[in-house]
Amino acid sequence: MDISNLEKLTQLDGVSGREDAVRGEIEAQLQALGLQTRTDALGNLISYKDGTGPHKIILCAHMDEVGLMVKYISSAGFLSFITVGGIDPRTLLAQRVTVHTSSGPVTGVIGTKPAHITQETERGKAVPLSDLFIDIGMDGEEAAQIVSPGDFVTLQRPFARLGGSRLCSKAFDDRVGCFCILEALKRVKKPLLGVHAVFSVQEEVGLRGAGTAAFGLQADAAFAVDATGAADIPLCRPQDYLVCLGGGVGVSAIDAATITPKWMLDDIISLCRAENIRYQVRIAPRGGNDAGAIHRSRTGIASCALSIPTRNIHSNVEVTDINDIRAAVDLLCAVLEKGLRGLK
Ligand SMILES: [Zn+2]
Repeated sequence: MDISNLEKLTQLDGVSGREDAVRGEIEAQLQALGLQTRTDALGNLISYKDGTGPHKIILCAHMDEVGLMVKYISSAGFLSFITVGGIDPRTLLAQRVTVHTSSGPVTGVIGTKPAHITQETERGKAVPLSDLFIDIGMDGEEAAQIVSPGDFVTLQRPFARLGGSRLCSKAFDDRVGCFCILEALKRVKKPLLGVHAVFSVQEEVGLRGAGTAAFGLQADAAFAVDATGAADIPLCRPQDYLVCLGGGVGVSAIDAATITPKWMLDDIISLCRAENIRYQVRIAPRGGNDAGAIHRSRTGIASCALSIPTRNIHSNVEVTDINDIRAAVDLLCAVLEKGLRGLK
């Protein structure tokens, strides 16, 4: 696997609705593989690789990442903002950000009232979003000339390797899914299944792109490949981990948006066992991903989410494990090469 490509994808900025830089890079990579691409009205990037058999599937990963949007510029030049997608405000304080203005990117920092002038009752408490601001180092006049309400803001953080096989970055959710699909398309020269590769927009604000993309495609089944929150941390009980880093690719039985058909779940698990691919069944009482929109498209498309376990999800210190990413790529390749028994 080309982990440097994963690094490159995570370092691109693409808040929901502004996925252009990510789309441009993935489009170039698809075209380098000899595949044709098209972009629909919402911005979904769609490609097709022919299979030797009669069946077709959708592989979908979303290009967007969670971020912020400038709401107001104060007379002193400080920026108020809203969140775009599910960001926990507790993770925002003291972060460095990029404000994407019409004049180009501007670096800022997220601040609040310093601890030594807070009241006793405020100390040790989470700071609400309304008490955070972005400081771009400009006075009010300069800020108003350069920044506009509606400008998108992304969190900055370089890619890093942690101990063992662990990686840390912003935007693994869901550039890791985009990476896995690209890797599978590179590796599988002659798939049995025809594959519609969909790189969707606006997943983080309500699965908005994938449904319309799937509506335009003929497919017998679909897989959403996405990062999923792993709660295998000291504060959680093992039964609440959802998925564990290093436990393999998450094969979703259920989440708040999708229930995987029994035949499909059984087929995937059999394939993992036959191919010696490490997997874990994901049972998530909350959350959802593009599978939730795709399975309700047209007259219904059998869909399953394949998940890459991710700690600190929706922050700029997301942590994943190379071995889980490899398991996800191996599973995608096995599906493309061997097919699904339920489709025969
Ligand atoms: Zn995601």
